[in-house]
Amino acid sequence: MLSVTVHDIAIKEILAKGLFKGEVRFDEPMSAHTSLRIGGPAEILAFPEDPVSLKNILLSAKREQIPVFIFGGGTNLLVSDGGIEGIVISLKAFNKIEFTRETNDKNAVLYVGAGVTLAKLISFAQKNGCAGVEALAGIPGYFGGAVYMNAGSFGVEIKDVLVSIALMDINGEIRILQKDDLNFSYRSSNLPESSMILSANISLNRDKSDDILNRIKEFLRKKRETQPLLEPSAGCVFKNPAGDAAGRLIDAAGCKEMRIGDIEVSAGHANYFINKGKATYMDFIALMEKVKVRVKEHSGVVLEPEIKIVGRNLKFKI
Ligand SMILES: Cc1cc2nc3c(=O)[nH]c(=O)nc-3n(C[C@H](O)[C@H](O)[C@H](O)COP(=O)(O)OP(=O)(O)OC[C@H]3O[C@@H](n4cnc5c(N)ncnc54)[C@H](O)[C@@H]3O)c2cc1C
Repeated sequence: MLSVTVHDIAIKEILAKGLFKGEVRFDEPMSAHTSLRIGGPAEILAFPEDPVSLKNILLSAKREQIPVFIFGGGTNLLVSDGGIEGIVISLKAFNKIEFTRETNDKNAVLYVGAGVTLAKLISFAQKNGCAGVEALAGIPGYFGGAVYMNAGSFGVEIKDVLVSIALMDINGEIRILQKDDLNFSYRSSNLPESSMILSANISLNRDKSDDILNRIKEFLRKKRETQPLLEPSAGCVFKNPAGDAAGRLIDAAGCKEMRIGDIEVSAGHANYFINKGKATYMDFIALMEKVKVRVKEHSGVVLEPEIKIVGRNLKFKI
């Protein structure tokens, strides 16, 4: 049942005043926006079309003390069945990609908006003879999410090509940080708290388009061989511990195809949990806990989550 909250009223006010350009949805199920297809409603889901609209909604949220959460493609997210309180922001309209003036014959510097999909970035780079991101082929989601997560594959991480990042803080102020100002590590950008990535500049090397395309095909082939890319999941559930692979440890502990409700440990890659139908947040958490205990008993390793777990009534011990 739809209900009007004080948060809704605050947002309707800025819409009525023409201070926000873009779509706003109320009580929007997050299951429609996550690759796992799990998640209750976002109280308010906003798609600002420009930085001024983003700033205005952030200022309103700050004034009214409304919680704010930003997401990208929802491909690394587990959202609770209770949904997300406050304003959930998507920057999918921030989807510009172009060469900057620093580009020359050997090196291309690209401006990439947070709402560019990784697939579009990889295709743009390949068609324009720019190498460096092809190993990331097959990773779903948006560029902003990939920078936040420092997404990586086959030994290449987003940080390897980054030059600088444009961030907006909760006061709507924009800051440019150089890569070295941040402390990127495995699946983490260590961004200043409550900041949103608007865009980043990345540096790529010139190469032949055909050679780049062949490498993309090869990486995709390997990825499809080892990972269940077509089934609903959030990618790797746990981080790889130093010197080992979480998938190998989960498999060794006998957890492949273990199932709770409609969530199942993939038979192909044990660090992927697949939604087999109508899985819930609580199913997913229960399976994570069970797998974590089994791995600890079997190998002594304590697995840490890679996926981001958000929303109301989280209740977990992971
Ligand atoms: C089939 C499959 C395969 C995958 N393979 C890989 C892989 O090989 N390697 C890998 O690293 N990952 C992989 N992933 C996980 C996931 O795709 C990546 O982490 C991806 O980069 C997340 O991007 P997203 O836009 O979906 O982020 P989301 O899942 O929407 O968000 C992830 C986190 O980023 C934050 N965030 C998102 N956008 C912004 C922004 N603009 N500013 C600040 N914070 C932001 C969110 O708040 C959240 O904490 C895979 C996932 C799936 C489903």
